[in-house]
Amino acid sequence: MTDTTSYDVIVIGAGPAGYPCAIRAAQNKLKVACIDAWKNYDGSHAYGGTCLNAGCIPSKALLESSELYHRAQSEFGAHGIKVGSLAFDLATMQKRKAQIVKASTQGIAGLFKAAGVTAMPGHGRLLSGNRVEYTSLDGKQSQLTAKHVVLATGSVPMELKSVPFDGKAVVDSWGALEFDAVPKRLGVIGAGVIGLELGSVWRRLGAEVVVLEAMEQFLFMADQQVAKEALKHFKKLGLDIRLGAKVGGVKAGKGGVTLEYVDASGQQTVTVDKVVVAVGRRPFTGELLGDGTGVELDERGFVKVDHECRTTAANVWAVGDVVRGPMLAHKGKEEGVMVGDLVAGLVSEVNYKAVPSVIYTAPEIAWVGLTEEEARKTGRPYKVGSFPFLASGRARAMEAPAGFAKVISASDDDEILGVHIIGPMAGELIAEAVLALEYSASTEDLQRTMHAHPTLSEALHEAALGADKRAIDFPNR
Ligand code: FAD
Ligand code: AMP
Repeated sequence: MTDTTSYDVIVIGAGPAGYPCAIRAAQNKLKVACIDAWKNYDGSHAYGGTCLNAGCIPSKALLESSELYHRAQSEFGAHGIKVGSLAFDLATMQKRKAQIVKASTQGIAGLFKAAGVTAMPGHGRLLSGNRVEYTSLDGKQSQLTAKHVVLATGSVPMELKSVPFDGKAVVDSWGALEFDAVPKRLGVIGAGVIGLELGSVWRRLGAEVVVLEAMEQFLFMADQQVAKEALKHFKKLGLDIRLGAKVGGVKAGKGGVTLEYVDASGQQTVTVDKVVVAVGRRPFTGELLGDGTGVELDERGFVKVDHECRTTAANVWAVGDVVRGPMLAHKGKEEGVMVGDLVAGLVSEVNYKAVPSVIYTAPEIAWVGLTEEEARKTGRPYKVGSFPFLASGRARAMEAPAGFAKVISASDDDEILGVHIIGPMAGELIAEAVLALEYSASTEDLQRTMHAHPTLSEALHEAALGADKRAIDFPNR
């Protein structure tokens, strides 16, 4: 009889870090189980973690719907398309989103089946000696053992002590994806990626949106030329972005919820109907580690790992949001796949220098590698080429001529150091730049690569040419 309690690999967590790890380990002919405890609002279980259920996928579904509505309002006229009176039905939009999420999460159950991964809905807890305590959804407990255990328990929204979630007026990002009516006035705390994406969704659907951001600098992690351009477009959309505004309290009253914040002019307030707290996420290890496991956490609560995602305990690994590095689904996926190979004795690694970042607003923002500010700090001489989408025939034909592509390269050996795009389909276009960095490509490599005409990708090509003052379709400066 097959032993159903002993595995080569047990993965705890089936988000975008955990499920690819389980599948890759199974592809490597290992006996694998994946335990996942996700619970939806209605109490049902689904695989896919934050990303599929409450993050990447539902947010992109609503971004797409709201963007279409916004474009129909603001752009169709320029194409000569008359739409008459325009309206939307939020219930249908939300239903569409829910169907997309369901298809995606059910897809993972199917992938597990096809790969031969034993899917175990329920809670996993690491005990000493590579044992795992499994509690099924109906509360039954059993003990499993594994040669390798992979922790992939992800992250949860950070709470502001001074503005606690109440699930009604003050919600986290998941709550803000589930609104059943467009709030008249929406307060967003935090102008990070999640705050800007959610603020854009509800603004496009008609909410008055005020975004309060503690830092003076907008999008501090992005290239500042891109950040400046982005701020211009967000203001045009009608997002009231207040920088240097640190929120310190909330008061609920009859007229709505009043947020108290401090900025350069002193104590301020703003009254809204709903508040989304989007001040970041923290690693989640609640109820995960039993006594004596040897797994150490760092001072911020992340599971400590080395460059190969090994924890401080033998044969225990950790991947995704629960470990250091950017909290991004694709970063977690690559770590999961790497560990799925390493546990099988194969060689693998993740190139942390080529992790793309994307903000799915309009225009989209995407980058990989060094920002110009970071390149300057290295002291190595660098050159910059940029190309505006205004000069792209395809972007003009798409009625999307905003933004630019920018390539930063080393002056000494021509290596591409960073690529930044703000404009139409930036999140798709950045893939070429990620590949360039992966191959340590030179600017000349990109210059010599033929790009189809007319495509948006020509902007990247021209930006690379511009780095050597050899752009064809835009005057070189
Ligand atoms: P998670 O996705 O959080 O999955 C962890 C899983 O482990 C969950 O199912 C959880 O229930 C389970 N779990 C936890 N503890 C246990 C336990 N003890 N036993 C069993 N199971 C357990 N990233 C992008 O790259 N692109 C985007 O566009 C993007 N958009 C986002 C939008 C929003 C609104 C949010 C909130 C996030 C977004 N992210 C995006 C971030 C992305 O969702 C995360 O980086 C990603 O989900 C992390 O994957 P993970 O597998 O590490 O963790
Ligand atoms: P991210 O970490 O990308 O999700 O972004 C979260 C943003 O929230 C950061 O830009 C923080 O500066 C911002 N933030 C954190 N705390 C506060 C606060 N109390 N008031 C306003 N903004 C905040």
